[in-house]
Amino acid sequence: VDLPVHLAVLGAADEHPDVPALIDGVTGESVSYGRLAGAVRRASAGLAEAGVRPGDVVALYSPNTIAYPVVYFGATAAGATVTTVSSLTTAGELATQLRDSRARWIITVSPFLPVARAAADALAAEGEPIAEIIVCDGAEGHRSLADLLASTAPEPTPVIDPAADIAVLPYSSGTTGLPKGVMLTHRSIATNLAQTDALYRPAVGERVLAVLPFFHIYGLAALLNQPLRCGATVVVLPRFDLEQFLRTIQEQRVEALIVAPPIVLALAKHPLVGQYDLSSLRYVLSAAAPLDADLAEACARRLGLPRILQGYGMTELSPVTHVVSPYDPDPARGSVGRLVPSTELRIAALDGEDAGGAAAGADLGAGEPGEILVRGPQVMKGYFARPSDTAATIDADGWLHTGDVGYVDERGYLFVVDRVKELIKYKGYQVAPAELEALLLTHPQIADAAVIGVQGPDGVERPKAFVVRAPGSGLTEQQVSDFVAGQVAPYKKVRAVEFLEAVPKSASGKILRRELRDRERAAAG
Ligand code: ATP
Ligand code: MG
Repeated sequence: VDLPVHLAVLGAADEHPDVPALIDGVTGESVSYGRLAGAVRRASAGLAEAGVRPGDVVALYSPNTIAYPVVYFGATAAGATVTTVSSLTTAGELATQLRDSRARWIITVSPFLPVARAAADALAAEGEPIAEIIVCDGAEGHRSLADLLASTAPEPTPVIDPAADIAVLPYSSGTTGLPKGVMLTHRSIATNLAQTDALYRPAVGERVLAVLPFFHIYGLAALLNQPLRCGATVVVLPRFDLEQFLRTIQEQRVEALIVAPPIVLALAKHPLVGQYDLSSLRYVLSAAAPLDADLAEACARRLGLPRILQGYGMTELSPVTHVVSPYDPDPARGSVGRLVPSTELRIAALDGEDAGGAAAGADLGAGEPGEILVRGPQVMKGYFARPSDTAATIDADGWLHTGDVGYVDERGYLFVVDRVKELIKYKGYQVAPAELEALLLTHPQIADAAVIGVQGPDGVERPKAFVVRAPGSGLTEQQVSDFVAGQVAPYKKVRAVEFLEAVPKSASGKILRRELRDRERAAAG
């Protein structure tokens, strides 16, 4: 377990050199494990030749491609730390991440070069120039991946301390504020992969579809680190386009989907889905954001699967703490699964009336919702260069405070309610926006929905629903609020409704309620 992350992949290549490791879902190009391992070794030599030294930080700014793992594992094999960058980043955001992470290399693709250059220029103007921009598919005046692979330099053999050295510095999604750099050691990542093995491990040659972005820790762990150390085959798509996604499942006979709730929503509701042969699918795992049990069941029925599996985690946890195993004959409905081994969990009472009398922070029992606290070897080393944020998140006893509300049932299954900070406080009650969103999605004329708390002139926060109507629907605001009012306790009623074209979501599939709140504030003047 306790090995640098790339060694697991090189090990898989020794065992199954001829099994396809990667398939480009667009072009059909296939890369065997043997070829992948050779490329990783050459890329590490090429990067060392370019000047990358152990401990240096390399920014990987690319959509999903079959070259992504070559560069990612190549950089860690050279002893570097990889900071992954969102494909949706702006030049300003990239400059911020480069500054914050102290990255000196950018590895990118030609369509992203203008943004990469603008960010690099900003740093140069500050007197902190980066070392180089490497453009995988090639661009005038830049080293390409082919150049790295053609290197005749010796393969570097850095001494990596798995417990101390940072393999990856991903940034949290920025759902609740500014993204923070999360220090994940080789050990925390490798340990978490071994922990999830206990519940599920892909088989050799099993086809997993990678449509979630590799830059987010969920995609990086579940779609690169995990399948590529198990000998599975990763079918790579650059972005989510429903038709291409469905066609790829059909053509490549994909067996496993690892997705986020927006894709489950599309699979459950979109008319196109019925036109494709998706019978190769054996399981679908959803994580990263709340998924309603009814929606999950509608999706499973449509795909002819017994259930949609859920998992839970966060960047700070390398990232998994809970998952429903595909072998579990009777998982609790709507739960995110069971705790992975060698991990401790506490549910701590929140402040306020809903704590049912327990003092804030006190341990709660089965069925009682409170803040989810986790302790284990997968907890991050800390936020990079943010000691006070780290201290506010990991307490003196090593417990990581997730900021999420949840409860555990008698059998040990975890249910995630929502984020502590997003609970709507209405007259002493707490309303979870996720619960109302889930209810709204059960309406046949609602294609998507988001809920936030909006403060009225009286200072009271009330739930407001943002709703995307299904095509052709003439649903009215009144009908939406009546629909909710008919099914919830009065304090949970939706007090305002607004129709939207689309719900703002992050690339990792989370509803950006922050954007809706900003918009609300702007409208209020
Ligand atoms: P930031 O911390 O920058 O505001 P973020 O918390 O969205 O962004 P991530 O680390 O990508 O960044 O996401 C972790 C969060 O995602 C968890 O804290 C939780 O709120 C949410 N989450 C993950 N899995 C689930 C799930 N199965 N159900 C509900 N929420 C989930
Ligand atoms: Mg977070």
